[in-house]
Amino acid sequence: MQGLDVAMGLEGAQFVAMVVGVLLLVSLAWYIRSRSGATSSRIAEAASEHKPVEPPKGVWAAMSRTREQLARLFKDAGPNPDLERLEETLLLADVGLATTQRLIGAVGERGAQDLEAMQSALKEEMLTVLTEHHAPLCVSDDLWVVLIVGVNGSGKTTTIGKLAARLKADGKKVLLAAADTYRAAAAEQLEVWAERAGVDIVRHQEGADPGAVAYDALDAALARGCDVVIIDTAGRLQTTRPLMEQLAKVRRVVDKKVPGAPHETLLVVDGTMGQNALSQGRQFHEATPLTGAVVTKLDGTARGGMVLALAGELQLPVKLIGVGEQVADLRDFEPSSYVEALF
Ligand code: GDP
Ligand code: MG
Repeated sequence: MQGLDVAMGLEGAQFVAMVVGVLLLVSLAWYIRSRSGATSSRIAEAASEHKPVEPPKGVWAAMSRTREQLARLFKDAGPNPDLERLEETLLLADVGLATTQRLIGAVGERGAQDLEAMQSALKEEMLTVLTEHHAPLCVSDDLWVVLIVGVNGSGKTTTIGKLAARLKADGKKVLLAAADTYRAAAAEQLEVWAERAGVDIVRHQEGADPGAVAYDALDAALARGCDVVIIDTAGRLQTTRPLMEQLAKVRRVVDKKVPGAPHETLLVVDGTMGQNALSQGRQFHEATPLTGAVVTKLDGTARGGMVLALAGELQLPVKLIGVGEQVADLRDFEPSSYVEALF
């Protein structure tokens, strides 16, 4: 009652000012509370999302299953295997028929008799196979456009996210184009990666024309002064004609907007697929001009020999490898460290 008396005793203007002040204080307190709640839930979210933080894997660690499998096969072959036995070993490691024959030919020519000499001849020829067509990823200073293709589940979106984060850390302004419009979930997944990498993204509705997405993305990139555009694409089985036609259309649109683009067309292949990946690669290679390959999931397979099959048979430089699911798990492919990691 006393407060009311005081209020009644005040001049009208003072009373209004007091009420406004109290209201302001209450809303300020409410705002601070809700902000701190949101912040702590964001931190909790981020912490749970990145829970299994492992130190970034190297090629040697990622290749451990393939190396162990090869070591077992060599051990079974004995200290003086014949070339036929050696050939079998390489085929079992998914090196592919053509590349295996080439490697065996080189071992035979050198007249290697014991396993040690054979392995050293193998290493040397493997390095030749891999370096013959080797070409690292080379980011140009002008707007650099990368088209990413491959079947569903091969690791396209994940690779784009990792690559975007890496280029951003190198000081590049990166924009992602969600041209896999086949499923809404695809664009959403790319959006999560864009956020994680801290880069821009252009997306349309589910079912939109992938060419239109690519066009808008390049438009935005030119307007915003971006350095890099990475285009995600749909990956229904490569045998379906419409997908290949769609890819051709995206290429035309991109080239029209930025003459000479895409500067890289990278085929993403799942390293756990062995020879299947090779046949998929062959079909993509025939349908769309590729400049290189990315082999993913090398950390989860004993079939890592397929990198040799890809390089040898498709004569396609392997430019990047995926060694895990985390943002840091992308490596430049280096022939010598790969070959060292096989033995
Ligand atoms: P997309 O359909 O080609 O876009 O493939 P996604 O990027 O969605 O990847 C499919 C699955 O493979 C996801 O569960 C990824 O986390 C996983 N993946 C991608 N790259 C790697 C890698 O290098 N190592 C491992 N272990 N998993 C990977
Ligand atoms: Mg995808």
